[in-house]
Amino acid sequence: MITKIQSKIVMSNPVFRLSRSTLTIPTILNLATFSPARTRQLHAHIIKSGLLIDNSLSSKLLSLYSNHRCFAEASIFLDSIDEPSSSSFSVIINALSKFNLFYNVVDLFRKMLSKGVCLDSYLLPAVAKTCAGLSAFELGRQVHGLAQVSGCTLDVVVQSSLVHMYVKCGRLIIARKVLDEIPEPDVVTFSAMIAGYARNGDVGMAKRLFGDMGKLGLEPNLVSWNGLIAGFNQSGRHLEAIHVFLDMHLRGCQPDGSSFSSVLAAIADLEVLNVGIQVHGYVIKRGFACDKWVVSSLVDMYGKYACVSEMKQVFDEMGCMEIGSCNALVSALARNGLVNDALAMFSRMREHKMDLNVVSWTSMIGCCSQNGKDVEALELFTEMQLAGVKPNAVTIPCLLPACGNIAALMHGKAAHCFSIRRQITNDVFVGSALIDMYAKCGKIRDSQLCFDAMPTRNTVSWNAVIGGYAMHGKYKEALEMFDLMLKSGQKLNFITFTYLLSACNQKGLVDEGWHYFISMQKEHGVEAKMEHYACMVSLLSRVGKLEEAYSLIKEMPFKPDACVWGALLSSCRTYKNLQLGEIAAERLFKLEPRNPGNYVLLSNIYASKGMWGDVDRVRDLMKDMGLKKNPGCSWIEIKNKVHMLLAGDRTHSQMSQIIHKMEALGKEMKKAGLDPKIDYVLQDVEEQDKEQMLCGHSEKLAVAFGLLNTPAGFPLRVIKNLRICGDCHAVIKFISSIERREFFVRDTNRFHHFKDGECSCGDHW
Ligand code: ZN
Ligand code: ZN
Repeated sequence: MITKIQSKIVMSNPVFRLSRSTLTIPTILNLATFSPARTRQLHAHIIKSGLLIDNSLSSKLLSLYSNHRCFAEASIFLDSIDEPSSSSFSVIINALSKFNLFYNVVDLFRKMLSKGVCLDSYLLPAVAKTCAGLSAFELGRQVHGLAQVSGCTLDVVVQSSLVHMYVKCGRLIIARKVLDEIPEPDVVTFSAMIAGYARNGDVGMAKRLFGDMGKLGLEPNLVSWNGLIAGFNQSGRHLEAIHVFLDMHLRGCQPDGSSFSSVLAAIADLEVLNVGIQVHGYVIKRGFACDKWVVSSLVDMYGKYACVSEMKQVFDEMGCMEIGSCNALVSALARNGLVNDALAMFSRMREHKMDLNVVSWTSMIGCCSQNGKDVEALELFTEMQLAGVKPNAVTIPCLLPACGNIAALMHGKAAHCFSIRRQITNDVFVGSALIDMYAKCGKIRDSQLCFDAMPTRNTVSWNAVIGGYAMHGKYKEALEMFDLMLKSGQKLNFITFTYLLSACNQKGLVDEGWHYFISMQKEHGVEAKMEHYACMVSLLSRVGKLEEAYSLIKEMPFKPDACVWGALLSSCRTYKNLQLGEIAAERLFKLEPRNPGNYVLLSNIYASKGMWGDVDRVRDLMKDMGLKKNPGCSWIEIKNKVHMLLAGDRTHSQMSQIIHKMEALGKEMKKAGLDPKIDYVLQDVEEQDKEQMLCGHSEKLAVAFGLLNTPAGFPLRVIKNLRICGDCHAVIKFISSIERREFFVRDTNRFHHFKDGECSCGDHW
């Protein structure tokens, strides 16, 4: 019975101004375009009016619900049907698969089978698409089996969908078997198979099948050509991709935006700029110079060839601000190290009130964190969230290095919490970036916890945790992880050994270093690269085996770079070895003439020997070249804000308090009989001035600043952009005992954990 009020509501709706007698099934079935609300009303009305819901009416209702994505309602209705037919399930499954809700498809399909409903060929393509979307090969094979049993495999559409599924799952042999069973396959299915071979890098099979198409009287269309080009490009067969593009042109098939995009991407990864320019000409001729995908690919290609003006020109000629090509320009500028241009472009995008998407923000954040603009990266991340754009599993790994670089632990933790809320911590890139961030922020235990929690790990994850232990000077733990990595069967790469050697280096373990350096090549087939030689040279020279280090340099199979010579030079400075120091410095002046650090190191050696004339000569050389000493710079995070302190910076608002604090500590040190290490000051100045200059080192300023602004006992983390000097090291050790504080100081080389007057490095760094 319909109450009066209910019938009033129903009848006030124009659709229902039908008398009960006119509300027949055919009438309802013609009401094709219903809003979700009206569908619900209609459904309610049908129930109330006691109309018999037959198979076609229920299918109609289910499809109305499903096409509006009202799957909850659809599912409740489905459950209410006593004996649902396969078409009822088909309607929902097809809609779910259309919206790529693959897991829901699987659930519903299972439910359908458990109810003993027979399969039909209308439903199977959607299920096959689901298996393809999930790359669920095993499930796909079961579906194939069911299809065979139910006789659905006689249907060409089902067979084609199975070919697509096996291709997507990378099972080309089975895909080919199914394809060969189709009596008259269409061009699209054929093309999918060809693209599959191409994506697998199987040039021969792809080309042969492409030829077979012609024999069967099938003319390759744009889809076939594009699939082949894109496939070769994705499998890294860039040259083949270009050849197919040429072939396509010669055989009179006109390329479209998608063909251009794929071939330009292939060209970008090869050293064939002139081909790129020709294709660019072709793009203009065919009228695709304003196609957003093509412009993005052109910008990307020119960006990879470092043709900055061309890439800007292509972008400007498009004549409009389109988000995809703007994003491409930002990343191309970033790739060429033009971080300021990228930032300018980004603010232009914001001025134009463009709908910045997650890609725009992520590429800008990545650009900043890769180019030393860590604070800016953190700010952008905050702005992104304020703008209502949700970071994703790519954003977080772009942001976390910035947190690590400046030890912004609070920001890093916030990003971690965010990842947990968004359920992306299982992502292998997010997990690896978290390991690295915690290690760089001094929280090596948290790195290990993140590592342990990862459901799947790759080489990057293992390397991150080994690298973390190396940075903290924890050789034993690094080695343990290395052994576990070996046992896990994970592929080792050159970075694994760089970290392992660096762990040996931190501890001065010469024998172990040699062992891994040799076994790396002999047992693991990893060739020694520059980084490994640099580690070995550093290891040998830092324990004083300068001659042995120099011999290794001379034996290197390639020309040593600045890192290698730099490692030797800085140890020559420690051991005051003038002869080798001059050799290393001479090479370095040629390799990186504008790096002030090398001149400073050499003048340091002269200064330590009292050769003030030579000190002046080097300093004049620097002055003539307009080089200034790299300003020492340290960062400390206090109350969620990262503070930067510069050596000798008198403009800092708390500088007088900082100096006061340092002086007070200096007096305490003298009382305790600890004298500052005066020979770490370069200049030839009066003894007292030297002490004052030491007072100005940025890491000490940061430590004093931290002491002033945090409660007693609060551990402090400081990052320095240069290597910590012997004096600061001694001073911070002293402060850690007198102030009863823990300090984590990270310099360019490693972590120093100061506690109770000792440092974790054991004074070896
Ligand atoms: Zn210092
Ligand atoms: Zn130390």
